[in-house]
Order: sequence, then C-alpha cells, then structure tokens
Amino acid sequence: MAEKAVVVGSGPGAATAAMVLAEAGWDVVVFEKGRNYFSDLTEPAPGTLFSNDELKMLRGFGGPDTEGEPRAFRSTADDPEPLEVGFVNNLPTTVGGGSAHWDAKVPRFWDIDFEKLTRLGPIDGADVVDWPVSYSEMAPYYDAVEQLIGVQGDGDGWAAVAGKYAPRSRAFPMPPGPAQLASLLLAEGAGATGLHPYSYPAAVASQPYDGRPACINCGFCSGFGCPIHDRGSALIPLRRALLSGRAELRPDSMVTRIEHDGSSATGVRWVGSDGAEHTESADFVVLGGGAVESPRLVLLSDVGDDSGWIGGGIMFHWFSDGFGIWLDQRLHGYRGRSFSHGLDDFCDPDFPGAREAAAEVGLPYLRGGILEMGGTSHLIQEALQYVDLMEIFDADKPFGRRFKELMRLSALRDRLAGMQMIAEDLCQQANRVDLDPSITDRYGLPAARVTYHPHLYELTAQQFYMPHMEALAKAAGADVSGAVAQTGTPQAPSPTGETTPSGAHLMGGLRMGTDPSNSATDGFGRLWSIQNVGVADAAVFPTSGAHNPTLTIFAIALRNARSWAGLEGPPELAVDDEGDRGADSGVPVGLVVAGAAGGAAVIAGGAAALAARKRRASAHGSETAEDGTADGSGPEPLSS
Ligand SMILES: Cc1cc2nc3c(=O)[nH]c(=O)nc-3n(C[C@H](O)[C@H](O)[C@H](O)COP(=O)(O)OP(=O)(O)OC[C@H]3O[C@@H](n4cnc5c(N)ncnc54)[C@H](O)[C@@H]3O)c2cc1C
Ligand code: SF4
Repeated sequence: MAEKAVVVGSGPGAATAAMVLAEAGWDVVVFEKGRNYFSDLTEPAPGTLFSNDELKMLRGFGGPDTEGEPRAFRSTADDPEPLEVGFVNNLPTTVGGGSAHWDAKVPRFWDIDFEKLTRLGPIDGADVVDWPVSYSEMAPYYDAVEQLIGVQGDGDGWAAVAGKYAPRSRAFPMPPGPAQLASLLLAEGAGATGLHPYSYPAAVASQPYDGRPACINCGFCSGFGCPIHDRGSALIPLRRALLSGRAELRPDSMVTRIEHDGSSATGVRWVGSDGAEHTESADFVVLGGGAVESPRLVLLSDVGDDSGWIGGGIMFHWFSDGFGIWLDQRLHGYRGRSFSHGLDDFCDPDFPGAREAAAEVGLPYLRGGILEMGGTSHLIQEALQYVDLMEIFDADKPFGRRFKELMRLSALRDRLAGMQMIAEDLCQQANRVDLDPSITDRYGLPAARVTYHPHLYELTAQQFYMPHMEALAKAAGADVSGAVAQTGTPQAPSPTGETTPSGAHLMGGLRMGTDPSNSATDGFGRLWSIQNVGVADAAVFPTSGAHNPTLTIFAIALRNARSWAGLEGPPELAVDDEGDRGADSGVPVGLVVAGAAGGAAVIAGGAAALAARKRRASAHGSETAEDGTADGSGPEPLSS
C-alpha cells in the first residue's frame, strides 16, 4: 500500500530519503524552511541565482538568517550565559541545504570508523561505539551514491592507506579533472616527506555526466553555489524525487513540530511564508534538518527520551590550517575547484609516532584527519586580511599606498597554497543540542543551544600533526610556511573550545545504535520512541570519522530510507561491472531503487512527468532530449 511521508529539509540526507520513498511509490511532501534559488528542479542543470560574486556571498546570500533564527553556544553546562548567540556553525538555509555551497569533496569513511570501539577500543571521557553497520555493508551504498551524484577520482593513484581502510570494488565514475598548481606543489612536498597524496574524490563532473556539463574550474567553489550545476548536490536526488511525479517541494516552509500521540507520529505542524500555521498529515515523518535542527525539532515536539541521547553527542570536525607562500611565483590557487589533491595518512592510527604521542598524554591512540591541499583566499577576503594586519601598525590608515602594494604582491592569495586538516572529533554525550531557556527565534520557538567542548584527543592530534603540515610545505619549497589551529569562529578563533568550531561539518545529536539505552535512533535511524519517525541526515552519526562526512550522509540515508520503504539491501546499479560510465556519452546513472510494491505506479508517474518535460522542451525549442542528455539515452528506466 502506498504511504505518505513528510520530509523535513532538502539537504543531502533529506533529498536522498525523498528520492527513495517517492520512487518506491510513496507520496512525499518536502518542507524546506529556506528559499528556492533555482528554476525548474526537474532539469539536470536548472537556472540559479547563485553566481561568481564574492560580495554577494560574503553578505550571506543563501545563508542562514542568524538574527531571525539564532543559535546559542556555550562551552560547558557550567557557563552561566551563552558565549555566543547568532551564528553557531549554521549551514546554508536553502533548497539543497549545505550542498548548495559545498565544494563536494567526497571521500568514504574507513572501516575502522564503523567499528571504532571493536577495532580501536574505548577512550576515557568519550562515548566511542561501533556503528550498527559495517564498511563492507556500506560499500554498495557508497558505490550507488558515487554513481548518483557523479564522483571524479583517480583509482590508479589511490593511496595505499585509503585502499587498506576503504577498499573499492568499482572504479570512480569519472577521471579527475585538471590538477591545480598549488595542490600539485604541496603534493610534491608531501611525497617528499613520505606521505601519500592523491587526486581527491569530488562530486564535480570532470566530463559531461547525467545531463550536467563538465566543470569549468571557475574558482568560486567552496562557499559558492555552482553557477553551471556540474557539481553534484542534494538537487540530484531531489530531482529524481520530483520526476517520479509523487513528490512535492515546499520551500519557505518551516516545520515547527512533529505531531504524535506518544508512540506514533501523525504528521507535522508547519509555518508557511505567509506566517500562517498549518498541519500536514503523514504516515511517516523524515527528519533531514541537519545535526542541530533535527534534534531541536524532536525536543520541540515533546518526544520521550529515556536514554538521554536526544540531542547528545553533537560532533564537529576539528580543523587546523596550514600554508606555504612562494615569493618567486604566482600559484593562482583561486582558480579551480578549491583544491585538487589531498591525503589521508593523518587518519591512520598507526601513522609513525602517533601512538607514542597518544601514550604521552594517556590516550590509547589518536587520529588526525584528511588534509586538503591547495586552497587560497578570494580577492575581498585577501583585502580584509591586509586591513586587519595594517590596523595593528597604523589603526588610522589601514589603506592607501601600502595596501595597494600588498594587493599587487598578493602574498596571501596568489602566492599562497593553503591546507586544512579536517580531524576526527570524538563523540561525547555532554556535547549536545538542547533548547535555550531564554532565546527564541522569529517563530517564537526556543533556539537551539549547542554545548560543546573538545576532548584531549582532538587537541593532542592537532598539536601532533601541525608540524607535519608545516614540514610538507617547506619540503615543497615554500619560502614561508606554518600551521595554526582553526577551531573558533572566523572572528574569534579558539584553540581550546571557548567558541564553537566553525568548519561546516556537523554530525550526531540523534545517533543510531542497537541499544536503546545508548542511542536515540535504532539501527536504521528510526526514533526508538516513535518508530514512524526516521532521521535521514548527519544527526544519526554515532562517531564523526576523519573524512568529509557528506558522502556518508547520502549513503546512510540511502540505506536507511530503503529499509523504511520495505526495500531489501542496496540498490542495483545500472552500470557495467567495470563501473564504466561511457565517458563521451554523458550517460547517467540509473539506480534501480523502486521496490516491487511501488514500481508500476512510479513508472506511470515518472512517465507522466517526463512527458510533461518533453512538451516544455519542445515549446522552448530545446535541443536537449527530455531526459536531459544530449542523445536521449537518459537515466535507466525505473523498474521494480
Ligand atoms: C562552504 C561549505 C563547504 C562544504 N564542503 C564540503 C565538502 O567538500 N565535503 C563534505 O563532505 N561536506 C562539505 N560541507 C558540509 C555539507 O554541506 C554538510 O555535511 C551537508 O550539507 C549536511 O547535510 P544534512 O543532510 O545533514 O543537512 P543540511 O545540508 O544542513 O540540510 C538541512 C536542510 O534542512 C532545512 N531545515 C532545517 N530545519 C528545518 C525545519 N524545521 N523545517 C524545514 N526545513 C528545515 C535547512 O534549511 C537545510 O536546507 C560543506 C559545507 C559548506 C557550508
Ligand atoms: S569550480 Fe567547477 S564545480 Fe566548482 S563552482 Fe566552479 S564550475 Fe562549479
């Protein structure tokens, strides 16, 4: 029997769940509190209001409204007042969620991430657990998502350490795009110091793919909406949900409460752009508002919490910045897709010296995280840095001739190659989201309050790996090099955790598990107390891993949503065994996701939607076939 689901949010997790449920024959309504900055979302590359405009993005276009919807931050439960109010690591609030602005670096988590307790052991003061799913069970979901969103990567150059901990049985769907000079220089230095850099996996089309064009390396990647949509995002599964003919997207619609009778959800309460409150009934409610907003919504809905894990265990990756400056050459690191090379040697608990460094402070082991190599500032960011620097020497005149000379030299942009280590953050139950007792948002609802303090683990790993970052820049020939802790807000960096980390990687808060006393959701992301509420976003992460999280968000949402729809196991991939995508054809992906129950209805709905698109295309004289590809080969048919 077809059912009806309400999906809260339209980011990677939510959109993936919407796709699975709609293609399985469910009716789906997607509520997104942010705006829709895109034209027809059934197109593979819809029109967009995002552009290569640094000023627009610095002014927060597509970002969260942190005055109307503030969050509060405190370092520990003993802080009498919030240390910050407003921006607390908020992700963009728009159709597509955080994936509207990302640069789409998509490594897999490692096998030890899924079996952290079993393979690496407990750590005092942290809540280390295994995931309810192993890497080998996740691998086919990773394969499927890589095909769905279109990932470029270098299977041949894949680092040995990544192959050991995250073995692949399929090729990347696309080869890497052009390497960036700044990344290559740092990669050479890394190789010279015994590390293993490689072309980093990214959901960026290096060639036409699934109706999307190839990346033009415009350079305005991280923090900007992609102007041509070669970059994969939540819009891809959202498009498939809409093309099923069974899903409806409602932007500017804030879900304020899960309606339930204590053991079963009946729908949601929501507020539209007119300010009026409405109710939407549903057989199943999917939470995809992200790692802060999903726990907040559960707390706003008076759902029972026997375990104390609703809101508990919020995690942020722990960032360190490194750099090299070459005075004798321009690196133009502001071009390209933010950076092209990375390495994950620092994720390895057996990295030379890491166990000894851990033992010195009484830890059983430690891990850093992936190292992204090669980014730099944009023009306005660069200018603001000089203004800050010049103010130290001449507060009255942070401009003029000296400022112009600095801009011409461009030591902090054109001659700089940046690095970021994105390190694992241990799960601690006391790091949590709850409802602030006095701060409310524009809907009159209590704001989310984040309580977060780092563990000795993150701080020790940071101190251990920063010298390695500096050393590789030196080995690469940089004239000036260094590494600094970057964990606070850009305005107030704090290496010890008095401000919230600002790295845009948020996880946990409704963690999955097999033990109801030690988790908020079951092994498939359903709230223990209300089983027809499923969590599809990063909130379900029991541990944070040491790699960018979003491929895993897509993959775990795919796995869990398939179980909610009654579909068994991973989807079949409509690709050949070599993973060959037909490089020149632009042939897209066909995930065969529909189950037997909904298959026929989906085919009918999808056919109707495609026919409507064909009519639109012919009315506009489009030369593109109705499936969005040049030759009409299109996505594989949806089948049962
Ligand atoms: C500049 C930048 C670069 C990044 N680069 C990378 C990268 O290279 N690799 C990587 O892995 N990750 C990257 N990330 C992080 C990535 O964007 C997030 O991990 C990912 O978007 C999280 O997905 P999610 O589904 O958990 O939630 P989100 O993407 O946060 O989506 C949640 C959505 O739900 C909506 N919402 C919330 N509450 C409600 C409500 N009550 N009612 C209605 N709607 C609601 C929100 O408006 C939002 O659109 C980057 C992020 C940024 C900002
Ligand atoms: S660099 Fe490529 S992927 Fe990134 S925004 Fe520009 S065109 Fe899109």
